[in-house]
Amino acid sequence: MTIQKFFFKVLSLPLFNTEKVYCFYLEKKQRLGFQKIHTKDCELLPEKKARFKLGYFDNYEELIDHAKNEYGDVKLCELCCNTEAES
Ligand SMILES: [Zn+2]
Repeated sequence: MTIQKFFFKVLSLPLFNTEKVYCFYLEKKQRLGFQKIHTKDCELLPEKKARFKLGYFDNYEELIDHAKNEYGDVKLCELCCNTEAES
């Protein structure tokens, strides 16, 4: 396998495996004992220096597990992370 083919394979995998993948960010500032998680497009997303990048996740369970392990108490933003918004 050539280097180019190898990189193409690695880079293209996430695009084909999942339909929706969002980049999530965590507010550095705690509110009421929690740090809030936002998506990249959220209106309430703080400016760059006031947030951590959590990375790309395609489900909330994985996202919350990861964020809790790394940062402690976290909550999803009601505006951009509405888990009941499917209907
Ligand atoms: Zn938000």
